[in-house]
Amino acid sequence: MKNIKDYNLEELKQELISIGEKPFRAEQIFKWIYQENVTSFDEMTNLSLELREKLKQNYTLCIFNILRKQESSDGTIKYLFDVLDGNAIETVLMKYHHGYSLCVSTQIGCKMGCKFCASTGIAFARNLTSGEIVEELLAVERDQNIKISNVVYMGIGEPLDNYDNVVNSIRIINNPKGINIGARHISVSTSGLVPNIYRLAEENIQCTLSISLHATNNEKRSSMMPVNNRYPIEELIQACKDYIAKTNRRISFEYALAKDNNDNLEDAKGLVKLLKGMLCHVNLIPINKIENGAFDKSSNENIIKFRDYLNEHGIVATIRRELGSDIDAACGQLRRKNLQ
Ligand code: SF4
Repeated sequence: MKNIKDYNLEELKQELISIGEKPFRAEQIFKWIYQENVTSFDEMTNLSLELREKLKQNYTLCIFNILRKQESSDGTIKYLFDVLDGNAIETVLMKYHHGYSLCVSTQIGCKMGCKFCASTGIAFARNLTSGEIVEELLAVERDQNIKISNVVYMGIGEPLDNYDNVVNSIRIINNPKGINIGARHISVSTSGLVPNIYRLAEENIQCTLSISLHATNNEKRSSMMPVNNRYPIEELIQACKDYIAKTNRRISFEYALAKDNNDNLEDAKGLVKLLKGMLCHVNLIPINKIENGAFDKSSNENIIKFRDYLNEHGIVATIRRELGSDIDAACGQLRRKNLQ
């Protein structure tokens, strides 16, 4: 059966026309799904009984089951959802003073093989559909009875490796008649799939692009992130410059500090050289140690020194608050434990 959440508003209008219905029904259905967050077609009371029956026969609302929920002492909640085909995905809810932020997964498993990531070692199963990505958000809002204000595409999976579904899910989340979260509150992360960074720049979506950089020379970056062998740093930075020029949006560079690997002064100097003059921000991440992982967390003293060096040399850098470190918040860890 088709997942009705896989359609953006324009597509749903066309879909309704194809089953002999009026296109304006799409807006009514959108309201029930994304604003009222209903879990059955029967609740869509301004639709005729006949139409509700037709919808039931042809579509599913794809309501996830919660397999497991882990709550951290800082309020971060990590969900493991049953996506109804025997697979499981995880989604993390973080509470900030400015509201609720949700970290969504985009694939079941990941092909990229970053060495510091707990998803490495879990075989790639499939892409999530756009409706499944959107359902991560709706399922959490239902469970917590809240409205989420920020969405970050930073869970399991490489978002730009599931390009069409990710972009479609952004259109649904961003649509004022859908979930209505402003594009500036949506952030898409990538390990550096250069051709799709160029594509995203052309989409006319004002979302924030977040680049997992983690090293400043090709040798080191390739040893941490195999994707760098395909798209080396020079090509990645050029694509970022093009993205900034096209969208006028500031790029966020993620840099996970691993002890004795990429956290010394030479690395900080390399970062300044690479990013100087770009409209950007550096997010320093104290790496979460993973079981059997190759990297250890950098010392707090080192992290602060690294940040100060960047700030003193014209690169705006902040240290990301460590949320959920007591519940395995590095992506992939909850899922892997559950599967063992
Ligand atoms: S860090 Fe992200 S892109 Fe890299 S392997 Fe993990 S999930 Fe995939």
